[in-house]
Amino acid sequence: MKRSHLLLVPLLGALAGCHSKTGAPPAPSASAPSASAKPPPAPSASASASPPDAAVAPKEDLHAKLAQFVPSVLTADVASLPPEEKAAMEKIIEAARLMDPIYDRQVWAGNVALREKLAKDSSEHGKDVLAYFDVMRGPWDRQNEWKPFATEEPHPKGAGFYPEDLKADAFKAFVAGHAAQKEALESLTTVVKRAGADLEAVPYSKEYAEWLKPAAALLDEAAKTTKNRSLQKFLKSRAAAFGTDKYRQSDKDWMDLDSRVEVTIGPYETYADELFGQKAAFEAFVTVSDPAESAKLDKYKKLLPAMELNLPIPADAHGARGGDSPIHVVDVVFTSGEARGSVQTIAFNLPNDEVVRKEKGAKKVLLRNLIVTKFDKILRPLAAKILDPAQMVFLSGEAFFDETLFHELSHSLGPAFVKGTKDKEVRVALESSYSALEEAKADAMGAYNILYLVQRGDFPKAMHDQLLVSYLAGLFRSVRFGASEAHGKGAALQINRFFEDGAVDVDPKSKKLAIDLPKLEASIGKIVHDIAVVQWEGDKRAAETMLKRYGSVGDAWKGLLADMGDIAVDVKPIYPLAGEH
Ligand code: ZN
Repeated sequence: MKRSHLLLVPLLGALAGCHSKTGAPPAPSASAPSASAKPPPAPSASASASPPDAAVAPKEDLHAKLAQFVPSVLTADVASLPPEEKAAMEKIIEAARLMDPIYDRQVWAGNVALREKLAKDSSEHGKDVLAYFDVMRGPWDRQNEWKPFATEEPHPKGAGFYPEDLKADAFKAFVAGHAAQKEALESLTTVVKRAGADLEAVPYSKEYAEWLKPAAALLDEAAKTTKNRSLQKFLKSRAAAFGTDKYRQSDKDWMDLDSRVEVTIGPYETYADELFGQKAAFEAFVTVSDPAESAKLDKYKKLLPAMELNLPIPADAHGARGGDSPIHVVDVVFTSGEARGSVQTIAFNLPNDEVVRKEKGAKKVLLRNLIVTKFDKILRPLAAKILDPAQMVFLSGEAFFDETLFHELSHSLGPAFVKGTKDKEVRVALESSYSALEEAKADAMGAYNILYLVQRGDFPKAMHDQLLVSYLAGLFRSVRFGASEAHGKGAALQINRFFEDGAVDVDPKSKKLAIDLPKLEASIGKIVHDIAVVQWEGDKRAAETMLKRYGSVGDAWKGLLADMGDIAVDVKPIYPLAGEH
């Protein structure tokens, strides 16, 4: 039952340009399905945005900050695709482009108007500001706790989902007094607006109709083009959902996709809503799947029940999620919306709807070309800076890929619903603390599960040390996404716990990490336990306390981060199959 080493070999050679992330968000875009070409589209005017005040000239060196995002070509081998599938893919890419103008407005109502203003400054510095704005998808630095660099306004916690001046308490008080509107106001797919002294919920289908309607038409056209039944079914039901805001059936159809060309498109993650974590941002991933490689990983999904039972959590806290858990290895050929921001996602686990997950499980999608690229361009040079050479030998691309996979698998493990309730989702109970805690859980639990499978003999013994070292180095990669981002904050939480538990330290002489592998392993188990308990109890206060104490860069290791200054934080994708150069 040993896991073979075949993955990395086909992985590393294969693709033209590869890059990678398990993390964060994207850049502004055009309002029409603009031709093709050019990287991230620019937010067009026509916005409903309130015109922002004069942009502030940033004092920092944005040129250096821009250099932290290495342009990287991402593509896939499409030579073997039948012509009709390639034609369908092209229509899907056009639909995906329309997620950009929506996402720009979801980030902030003023985004589009501000970008227009910035675009008029043709000085060198002005160009840098605009380019950084496009990477950050707005005027705040996601790499630096939302520090403004092209505006004087602070980053609104409710992004573009709520009135900017709306406070959490005021929202809650209004909801408490208007029970009939509660569901709509708290919906994943509505924007909250003021209506006189009241609040009202505007469905996404109405608010973003200008882009959702043509996107739906393009998906319908693609459905007529492809010969793959499962893709047809999903494209049609997702197109319908754009008009009705009812996404459940299309989420189920997405689970059943069995096609070379695949797409994930719609409102998914709630990271951008830092007020309540309840509004979903639009994004799209257009991918070409590798069925043979996916089949090789299928064996791990059968081990999920054993992994669940082995978790170091209270006996009653085990999640009751049924269904399947397909694993797809894909190469990404285009992304948009939240999927295309400062930090590029390398893997995801969807859908988020716990009702669909209970019935059909959740699909883990690994963006292979991104994973390989991020390992080569970022993790390896970063690890060389912070690891002792004696431990650097354990850094492994295969362990990085496996940790990415098991991170995603682990999102399906542990508590799903709050103790004593049948259907109160942990996500709802923990509100804005949910995302960072869940990401930290998935990291630590992913490592915990791989170590368990090493012990069982499902992975070779050598994976034990490789995993621990590659996982730890990987956290230092993620923490550079910034503590304003769920994965970055979650990584900080883990690193701070390791320092507190004495599992890692900075060697005063070499200034490199000193890792105590057995203590690290023990500390991972403790993190899994502690987060699962907070989730199971739905204890929002405890979640906030944990993130406040551990969720930012620690004094003990901030020097290490400073030393990494010249290593790229992430890649900036270039998608030739979408006409980008
Ligand atoms: Zn995750």
